[in-house]
Amino acid sequence: MNISVIGAGQMGGGIAQVFATKGHHVSLVDISQEALDRGLAAIGKSLDRIVRKEVISVEEKDATLGRITGFTDMGAGTQDADLVIEAATENVDLKLKIFAQLDRLAPAAAPLATNTSSISITRIAAATQRPDKVIGMHFMNPVPVMKLVEVIRGYATSDATTDLVMSLSRELNKVPVAVNDYPGFVANRVLMPMINEAITTLFEGVAGVEEIDTVMKLGMAHPMGPLQLADYIGLDTCLAILRVMHEGFGRPHYQPCPLLVNMVTAGKLGRKSGEGFYDYAGGGKELVVSTSFQK
Ligand code: NAD
Repeated sequence: MNISVIGAGQMGGGIAQVFATKGHHVSLVDISQEALDRGLAAIGKSLDRIVRKEVISVEEKDATLGRITGFTDMGAGTQDADLVIEAATENVDLKLKIFAQLDRLAPAAAPLATNTSSISITRIAAATQRPDKVIGMHFMNPVPVMKLVEVIRGYATSDATTDLVMSLSRELNKVPVAVNDYPGFVANRVLMPMINEAITTLFEGVAGVEEIDTVMKLGMAHPMGPLQLADYIGLDTCLAILRVMHEGFGRPHYQPCPLLVNMVTAGKLGRKSGEGFYDYAGGGKELVVSTSFQK
């Protein structure tokens, strides 16, 4: 199949990688050559790790990369698409604009999926003339490793679109789980209040970054503490998801912690910007607490 992926960030790159690994042709679209180059370099590094683990050969890596073509023009990158998966920044206005564009540019028969973490599929679908073909295909981070795909049916999503996305997910060796279209769906509705509470616990001086993460890792057997996970997801993405749930449900429960708001405003976005609750400037494997937010 020809798969178009919109957005070459951490998620778009991962989605492109898993489809190309399975032999699909992928057109990867981003707004600038720089963003594309960064995305393609990250896919190369990820495949190198898999080569080092002897799961694939160097030739398979090269063939996989050869099936991914980068575009900065959405029209050129979607004209032959059998399926489009949008993985651009978590921003409702941006996604509405992209879906209106995709509806004009991509073949009329192509389903348009979104990897949104929280935004209404029904609302995104309403920006198009093909709401029956719009669906949530929510991969987890890192895409090549994580098994789950949360499949979200909008109000108008057809059975045919759902069946296609469920079976494609299985073909990628993922486990799809179908859920209904309410803010945050299931994954982030359950996860984000925990992350927000961990940030509030830090904000109120109950404990430091390492202490909070250690309690949750050792006490709850979580592979990563919530603050490390927030850095990994991207603090801008966490904030955007909380805002969608806060607005969507109107419950104070989802109100983002002021510390999270401040960090995003200051450009501390976590791993992708080099600093969040931890400092990633050194590039090493060891976690270094970013001292500026410790009481
Ligand atoms: P990211 O910031 O790493 O990447 C976003 C990319 O979108 C950037 O490269 C940006 O240049 C590009 N972009 C912005 N506007 C665009 C446009 N008009 N056309 C094409 N590309 C455009 O973000 P991410 O973490 O990859 O998140 C992408 C989506 O996936 C979001 O909807 C997010 O909620 C969702 N998601 C994220 C995670 C996570 O853990 N980070 C997990 C699941 C889902």
